[in-house]
Amino acid sequence: MTLRFFTDAGRPVHLGPYPLERLTRTDGPPDLTAIAPMRALSFERSDRPMSIVNAMGEYQAMLDAIRDGLVNKARAECPQDPQERTNHLKAFGYFNDSAMVGACLLPDAALLETPFRNPGIDRLAHDLRTRQTKTLASGIDMIMADLKESMEAPPTSIAGHTHALVFLDEFPRDPDPDEPGAAWIEDALAHRSSLRAAETAIVIANYIRLLGYNARAHTATSSDVDLGRMTVAAGLASPEAGAPVNPYVGDRFAVAVVTTDFELAADRPLAPLADQSGWRARGPAWWFGKGFAKNAINREPFARRRYVDGAFPFEKLQRVAKPTTFIDEARVARVPKRTDMFARAQFGDMGKTVQAGAIGGHYARKAAPSMAQRRVLGAFVLLQDGDSDPERTRLDPHEAATLVKAASYFLGVDAVGISRCPDWAWYSHDAAGDPLDPPHDQAISMIIDQGYETMEGASGDDWISVSQSMRAYLRFSLLGGVIAKQIRNLGYKAKAHSVIDGEVLQPPLLLLSGLGEVSRIGEVILNPYLGPRLKSGVVTTDLPMTHDLPIDFGLQAFCESCNKCARECPSGAITAGPKLMFNGYEIWKSDSQKCATYRITTEGGAMCGRCMKTCPWNLEGLFAEAPFRWAAMNMPKAGPSWPGSTTRSTMAGSIRSRNGGGTWRSKPMAAIGRHGIPSTNADCRRIST
Ligand code: SF4
Ligand code: SF4
Repeated sequence: MTLRFFTDAGRPVHLGPYPLERLTRTDGPPDLTAIAPMRALSFERSDRPMSIVNAMGEYQAMLDAIRDGLVNKARAECPQDPQERTNHLKAFGYFNDSAMVGACLLPDAALLETPFRNPGIDRLAHDLRTRQTKTLASGIDMIMADLKESMEAPPTSIAGHTHALVFLDEFPRDPDPDEPGAAWIEDALAHRSSLRAAETAIVIANYIRLLGYNARAHTATSSDVDLGRMTVAAGLASPEAGAPVNPYVGDRFAVAVVTTDFELAADRPLAPLADQSGWRARGPAWWFGKGFAKNAINREPFARRRYVDGAFPFEKLQRVAKPTTFIDEARVARVPKRTDMFARAQFGDMGKTVQAGAIGGHYARKAAPSMAQRRVLGAFVLLQDGDSDPERTRLDPHEAATLVKAASYFLGVDAVGISRCPDWAWYSHDAAGDPLDPPHDQAISMIIDQGYETMEGASGDDWISVSQSMRAYLRFSLLGGVIAKQIRNLGYKAKAHSVIDGEVLQPPLLLLSGLGEVSRIGEVILNPYLGPRLKSGVVTTDLPMTHDLPIDFGLQAFCESCNKCARECPSGAITAGPKLMFNGYEIWKSDSQKCATYRITTEGGAMCGRCMKTCPWNLEGLFAEAPFRWAAMNMPKAGPSWPGSTTRSTMAGSIRSRNGGGTWRSKPMAAIGRHGIPSTNADCRRIST
């Protein structure tokens, strides 16, 4: 688990987790010719079928296929100050988990004489032009139409682009060849980080185009610019013996770039490593991380942990034979996909006002960052399922579970659990209304942190909530999709169930796989390390795996004594009463229709999430919070009376400004739903999008 002694709550978001401001910079232009020309990265590993790189290749190609697109003809009102623009866009990069972001003028010396292009694009472009999706997600038709139109548009160039943003993703540690699960992830660091950097660049290029400016993303597999030279030009590395090197991460990183005609403020070049001040750059402040998130001790979350175990100490949790929520399995009724609350909203079941807010996915599209993320989510729907390799690789169930977990954590999933996938966890009918015969009996559940910082900067009535959700949903869609593809590559069936296209109910699977307990919020599974601020996704498969057991960290007793979310919910959707049996589950029954209505129709922003923000389990991950977590798990009935659980009192008192240029997070952004426990009542059904 990453250890932090100091909060970085006062740090402007656009400065990022590393103390780049402590580095020495120069005024003259850097000598880009001192950097050896880059070579395109290949995701082709047909000689090593077990390598996860093969599965990543499909997703990298899809990102490359949509790295360009149509520009909004209506220009948005943007800040005129280039520095303010840059700060906003850097903050967006950090929101997407980039380790570092730099900006520069687009230098001629970085233009490639012969741009390179991912050979997998053409096949996927054909799919984007022709394939139909079978999902009830609001606005998917508009996303697919946009993608189709983009694919058919005449080719463009980056002539006229004047500025660039560089997004740097650091490598995690090298897997030890002898550690459990290493077989899939060996020799995949560059691919993993290139893929993650590409995700950010593709979303942000799309965002800039939505603002009405030209922008194109450049990745390790499709680019018009030399990524190494761009890294130096943007002040993220200095040329050292022909290679770009960063003072904090060395040469262990990958980047992706966005070029644009949107004027930005350039960062100054970094001084050579030899001219960096050891005291200022790597002195005590760096060792202890005073005021910034990354430090010398916590920089690598897996430095002292095996990938298969995850970054959090899950091994310390108490495992139990059955979930702490009673599930009367024989009485859980399967429901059709159409009972999804957001599907019902767009069909008009909840009235005209709600329908107007749902049609075309308006609740997500009304915030441009969320709209930019949703385009990528839409494209990934085409990759969630597919044919399996005809030749099956034999895997022992324990080995299979180990490989899946190690690969998931290596890619960046925050928590993974494996369980059976009982029939009652599947919808009865799919999005087209056809009866659904459960095809897989194994489930890999994954959760993605929505981000403490952003949650702290949100109010519930703002424009960040929907983008916060979309960011996590998109991350699962990418990483869960890669795991599903990997399993199919090895000859088994597998499908990723994302927020846009899923056929299973996720909360019961999260419970069975030990990723959390049911909370008072009702439809939110609460994880002891991430609290309720998470989004989930599931990969179902017929690959036999050993299962995890459910966990018990005292949450039922804690929520029994704590009504905070019920008090804070603006729509009155969360009950302050006791648990009751509902559709086979013993839960605190929230009113999902009230919640969905509020989130779809709110005029103060897009979506909500106030319950997640104000819950005392929404913690920053500081060393100082350890006593609260220990006490909450060991004396849960008394939990709500402890200081740690009351610091987030009311919304008005608890919203912290993290602006300082990072106003991004409190300005136009927008969540889509959570996954809920199914219901047979018309007024209380599954929430999702
Ligand atoms: Fe209530 Fe908002 Fe949470 Fe929905 S998301 S339950 S409206 S606090
Ligand atoms: Fe449980 Fe309190 Fe969190 Fe609500 S706010 S989910 S009652 S701990």
